[in-house]
Amino acid sequence: MLYQRSSALFREAQKYIPGGVNSPVRAFKSVGGVPIFMKSAKGAYLLDVDNNKYIDYINSWGPMILGHTHPIVLNAVTEQLKNGFSFGTPTELETEIAKLIIESVSGIDKIRMVNSGTEACMSAIRLARGFTAKNKIIKFEGCYHGHSDAFLIKAGSGAATFGNPNSPGVTQGTAQDTLLAVYNDIESVKAVFENNKGEIAAVIIEPIAGNMGCIPPKKGFLENLRKLCDENKSLLIFDEVMTGFRAKLGGAQEFFNITADIITYGKVIGGGMPVGAFAARKEIMSFLSPEGPVYQAGTLSGNPIAMRAGLTTLSLLKNDLQIFDRINTTTQLLATELKNIFKEAGIKVCINQCSSMMTVFFGRLEVNNFEEASMADHNMFNKYFHYLLKNGIYLPPSGYETWFISDCIKQAEIDKTLEISRKFISYLYK
Ligand SMILES: *Cc1c(COP(=O)(O)O)cnc(C)c1O
Repeated sequence: MLYQRSSALFREAQKYIPGGVNSPVRAFKSVGGVPIFMKSAKGAYLLDVDNNKYIDYINSWGPMILGHTHPIVLNAVTEQLKNGFSFGTPTELETEIAKLIIESVSGIDKIRMVNSGTEACMSAIRLARGFTAKNKIIKFEGCYHGHSDAFLIKAGSGAATFGNPNSPGVTQGTAQDTLLAVYNDIESVKAVFENNKGEIAAVIIEPIAGNMGCIPPKKGFLENLRKLCDENKSLLIFDEVMTGFRAKLGGAQEFFNITADIITYGKVIGGGMPVGAFAARKEIMSFLSPEGPVYQAGTLSGNPIAMRAGLTTLSLLKNDLQIFDRINTTTQLLATELKNIFKEAGIKVCINQCSSMMTVFFGRLEVNNFEEASMADHNMFNKYFHYLLKNGIYLPPSGYETWFISDCIKQAEIDKTLEISRKFISYLYK
């Protein structure tokens, strides 16, 4: 495959945009090489500027659960555009999508729309702090909740110690209010609670971790977390930016049958447009401005084009609940078959899969937390990534990322992925 035009465009982009990209992972820093510039997408496929075609396992990092340019969504957005792009006033659409989400998800009465997952999580912790009148939050090493200051905290040596900022620009003052625990390790959470009695406003978690590669919660972990939060009068925040309207219509909450206090959304709920949201029961949401004292606002929040894309996507999901079983089964099939292929070749691998999310960790038999994810053979992943890319399969460009399966990935795409993976093994041993 030739990437002439991508290479030229990347050189040009680097002159005007830091690192040539508007979000770091797109720069291929982890896997090496030149990022591919896309020009269009349809169904399960991406088309790049050099006219190479790829099976897409990123799906815009999750939003395109129905596949790209779904005809019904495309038509709805096209029609909506004719009415104007943005008014800065309320519209009927906002109530419609709010109603649909609230009816689909347990434990929430009200929802506020924002423009990204980052905004949703940032606002959710402000609300949690306002509601509980406590300052500290607990997050898990390797979980990502957007790039706001409070979440950019590095894993310290002790889970119960003060966090250190891992990005210049995050102040020590902010960092010390974010405490770290280890994913899938309830004792680490207990220790943080014990050392900070009466100070924890909330625990925020990805109920299926997706930002250190896919790591499902161990049996009982989320239940115990729920219990700990209740005992300590702290709120449990499920960051369902990835899992919302993906794991099930009711998200990870429905998948695991657990109810959180605040839920954050993004990705799928915008159907490919920049949308985020956070939701909770009435008692909590009434703390939010203009009803309550916790301030939160947005010039383009609830934008009609974005709302139309989201509403149409969510309605399609709601009217075809089979879709969740379908894509979850497809993902399971892909994970199982891939694992068999590697196993037969004597390649040590752990493939984590949960709902329609999965990650291949080479060189490991198990990956349950960030530390274990970082011990995987990322060099091997990088080779695998480039081999598949060369053969028309687009994986997330990092071994710490999750593959997202869309409803357009069918047997033919799975078969091709397995075939190329077999060839990768022959190529390795050549
Ligand atoms: C993507 C993501 C975010 C951030 O959303 P943006 O829209 O990129 O700001 C937050 N939390 C989780 C779990 C995510 O996957």
